[in-house]
Amino acid sequence: MTEPQSPPSWYARTAVSGGISRPPLTGDASCDVCIIGGGLTGISAALNLAERGYDVVLIEQQRIGWGASGRNGGQICTAFSGGMEKIESAIGKADARRAWDMALEAKRILADRASRHGIECDLSWGYLYAALSRHQQRGLGEMRDQWVDDYGYDQPVALLSPEEMQEKVASTRYVGGLYDPEAGHLHVLDYLLGLARAAQAAGARLHEGTQALSITTGAQPGVRTASGTIRCQHLILATNGYLGRLEPRLRPYVMPVGSFVCTTEVIGQERLAGLIADNLAIAECNHILNYFRPTRDGRLMFGGGANYSAIDPPSLRFYLTRKLHKVFPQLADVKIDQAWSGLIGITASRIPHFGRLDGNVYYAQGFSGQGVALSGLAGLLMAEAVSGQAERLDVFGRIRHMPFPGGPLRTPALVLAMLYFRLLDLVGR
Ligand SMILES: Cc1cc2nc3c(=O)[nH]c(=O)nc-3n(C[C@H](O)[C@H](O)[C@H](O)COP(=O)(O)OP(=O)(O)OC[C@H]3O[C@@H](n4cnc5c(N)ncnc54)[C@H](O)[C@@H]3O)c2cc1C
Repeated sequence: MTEPQSPPSWYARTAVSGGISRPPLTGDASCDVCIIGGGLTGISAALNLAERGYDVVLIEQQRIGWGASGRNGGQICTAFSGGMEKIESAIGKADARRAWDMALEAKRILADRASRHGIECDLSWGYLYAALSRHQQRGLGEMRDQWVDDYGYDQPVALLSPEEMQEKVASTRYVGGLYDPEAGHLHVLDYLLGLARAAQAAGARLHEGTQALSITTGAQPGVRTASGTIRCQHLILATNGYLGRLEPRLRPYVMPVGSFVCTTEVIGQERLAGLIADNLAIAECNHILNYFRPTRDGRLMFGGGANYSAIDPPSLRFYLTRKLHKVFPQLADVKIDQAWSGLIGITASRIPHFGRLDGNVYYAQGFSGQGVALSGLAGLLMAEAVSGQAERLDVFGRIRHMPFPGGPLRTPALVLAMLYFRLLDLVGR
């Protein structure tokens, strides 16, 4: 049997693993709740359920964090990437308000968990949305008004002029920005591994190198692995962009989109501080956006691009170097040390897809690039639903999602969509 892998990334190289063993599951097993997927969503569900006294078995086909959770940009964002107006039109103002409150709760969950379990993960607050056109800057102004006036966001979010923006980010690319003090960044794999340790300490059984080959649903769902069957009362699907063909009823609603991240060689804290003030995380407003932030060891982490065909560019380093130099031409002498890719699970509306199938199968997917915080909420909501309190999960369950085209049209339709988004970015929309 091949050893389960961690994908190569700066996170994997620098994470504090804790040396805990999570051997593959052998033979049959039974439990109250079986969770498929060892990312932030699955581990968060495992921790919440184990704390409530449930007997939990979680299986991960590779290593904990092998999916998007262990290799993303590490940025903690406010609200939902699809925007509140889409949620309002899908479920009405009152439920949109509850969804907003839960999105804020998601950030608190992350901070509370890190502090309660003593997880050292370089949590840092302060976030900038960067506008590349006047149209985008107007959009940021409208977003600020909506957050503050309609939803009562009590943080001093501030629109920044081009000059103020340049004081924060040493790039001439931006015409303005929006500062959010209650968003930020972290070492996401250290955080996830800390959560996994807490889940195990609470009694959850975590098994790496164990793939779910198929599932059966019903009063007692079953999960078939290479060496046996797991029987459970409740099943949680936490596979997001890596769902594959495991559950055909969920597949049309989540599209795996490739995104690319790199870290530069060490450029030192002083030079970094001259590029980005106050250890901020930054995300552009483009549809196919760049996002970047400093790392604890004096590098710049830079992510960008999107690939709807899920095939990486021939040279990720070259691809990302070009993007990085467009933002920071002054880094022409700086080499990229490591580059990697991962799959973001997106929905058509960019609003996450949470819900239930058959009464006892729960899922949370399609965080659309904002799952670092929202996945912790998803895990909690699914644990609540297993405990018989599904009201909060059902707020999201009421959102009707559009399926992506299926069959042979799936990839061509998405490639066309990407060309369309590129065009919008080119004209600053
Ligand atoms: C390059 C990149 C950058 C990103 N940047 C950010 C960011 O800065 N901020 C942000 O908020 N979000 C970001 N995201 C999105 C964020 O990482 C995800 O929303 C979040 O990690 C989703 O967590 P998850 O646990 O639901 O899914 P994942 O972390 O993808 O975990 C799913 C797991 O399920 C496992 N699995 C799948 N099928 C099976 C099976 N059959 N049997 C067993 N195991 C299985 C997979 O191996 C995988 O580990 C980024 C994503 C990527 C790819």
